[in-house]
Amino acid sequence: MIYKRSSELFVAAQKVIPGGVNSPVRAFKSVGGDPVFVKEAKGAYLYDEDGRRLIDYIASWGPMILGHAHKPVVDAVIEKAQKGTSFGMPTEIETKIAELAISMVPGIDKIRFVNSGTEACMSAVRLARGFSGREKIIKFAGCYHGHSDSFLIQAGSGAVTFGSPNSPGVTAGTAKDTLLADYNNLDNVKELFEANSGEIAAIIIEPVAGNMGCILPAEGFLQGLRELCDAHGALLIFDEVMTGFRLAKGGVQELMDVRADIVTFGKVIGGGLPVGAFAARTEIMSHLAPEGPVYQAGTLSGNPLAMAAGLAMLTELNNSDVFESLAKKTEYLHKGIDKALTDSGVTFTINRIGSMISVHFAEGAVTDFKSAAVGDNDTFKKFFHGLLEEGIYIAPSAYESWFLNDAVSYEDLDETIAAVAKVGKTL
Ligand SMILES: *Cc1c(COP(=O)(O)O)cnc(C)c1O
Repeated sequence: MIYKRSSELFVAAQKVIPGGVNSPVRAFKSVGGDPVFVKEAKGAYLYDEDGRRLIDYIASWGPMILGHAHKPVVDAVIEKAQKGTSFGMPTEIETKIAELAISMVPGIDKIRFVNSGTEACMSAVRLARGFSGREKIIKFAGCYHGHSDSFLIQAGSGAVTFGSPNSPGVTAGTAKDTLLADYNNLDNVKELFEANSGEIAAIIIEPVAGNMGCILPAEGFLQGLRELCDAHGALLIFDEVMTGFRLAKGGVQELMDVRADIVTFGKVIGGGLPVGAFAARTEIMSHLAPEGPVYQAGTLSGNPLAMAAGLAMLTELNNSDVFESLAKKTEYLHKGIDKALTDSGVTFTINRIGSMISVHFAEGAVTDFKSAAVGDNDTFKKFFHGLLEEGIYIAPSAYESWFLNDAVSYEDLDETIAAVAKVGKTL
């Protein structure tokens, strides 16, 4: 058994940590087997506790876009750590990273740093409600905005008008303020606006979805949301926790030339440390405490370690053609996987944009949660474990995208494509 030590560590972890993990998807529930414990990572590679090297395609679910232990980021963190890791007082570096982020992203004047993408989205919604004086929000089935109560909502039975909790502990009271629509379905959104006239504070969306596989917005969809929001006096929130600083310097706003009112960030913006952020034009951000009445705070928010990592990361991204390089590598991978799986005769669909790509074992286009959900999970399980055996680590869930990092070389990609061809024959 190649994962002896990982399995032992998992047994120990389960005694003291619920399910043995600090975030559920790590536990391999949807693919079966025990999770792989990581010892260290460098560049494109993870080194696990059983001494194996894995080519990494999750990049810590996004942040490690330049590869693991990227020197400028590590150096920045070490230098800062020696000078104190948290003060609960303002520091100059917070302004520096704010200035840089604002210069890279269109349409934002001010930014507030928090500690996770969850916090960023939760706070963005509060700000939108405070700004608009309205309470309801629209979210899309299959989009993930973190684990705060308002987002753990599923479509209510038969009712298009409001959602119901999809986790115990979320109250019916909270659920009634979150309306559910289908991704890429503008008519759905229109109906919700009409049925809840004057009550909708905001639409929140992953402008490219990365949490049900990688799903692209259909032509005109984001622009249509922009127009509906304008027509109904609601704010458009782009959750760019995944896509921000990954698909382009300015995220999907830049890439697809549609402007949101509030944008949330996480993952890449922290360079691998716990950072989230939300940003908007001055008119909106001035509603936030201490300038305005909408409360939001954080003891460790903007702490020097996180800011140093984030600033080093954004500085690197701002001065490079990494997005182009990543898009080319991902296209190369796409072509290789496409051929390998076609040769194997298995039914599949691949979605891709920039450095995000997902393989769905489904027939036909995958454009929303429903079409993502028809994918064959048994085939995915075999695919996942087969690749793992070949030293390729993809996300342990059929609902996840692959996130490329730029340390992955063309040799690594060839090795991956060869592994897919080999595993494909067993599917
Ligand atoms: C990861 C993610 C979040 C949540 O961020 P955390 O840092 O895990 O709290 C929110 N939105 C999107 C789009 C994400 O991908």
